Amino acid sequence: MPSEEQMRAVGETCTEYWPVDEGPASCSNCSHWKGDELKCELDIFELQLTNLDQT
Ligand code: SF4
Repeated sequence: MPSEEQMRAVGETCTEYWPVDEGPASCSNCSHWKGDELKCELDIFELQLTNLDQT
């Protein structure tokens, strides 16, 4: 499970971010964040996180 900080950083930059409500951008507020293990259904979280590290 990624940290809140990581989910916010990704949510702020992810091109597929699709907010559930008007709360702060974060994967935990994204419509694609779901499932029993709570992860990105598009399977791009790790990719987004890696891209963040390169900036
Ligand atoms: S859950 Fe997936 S689509 Fe949504 S912001 Fe995170 S990485 Fe992007």
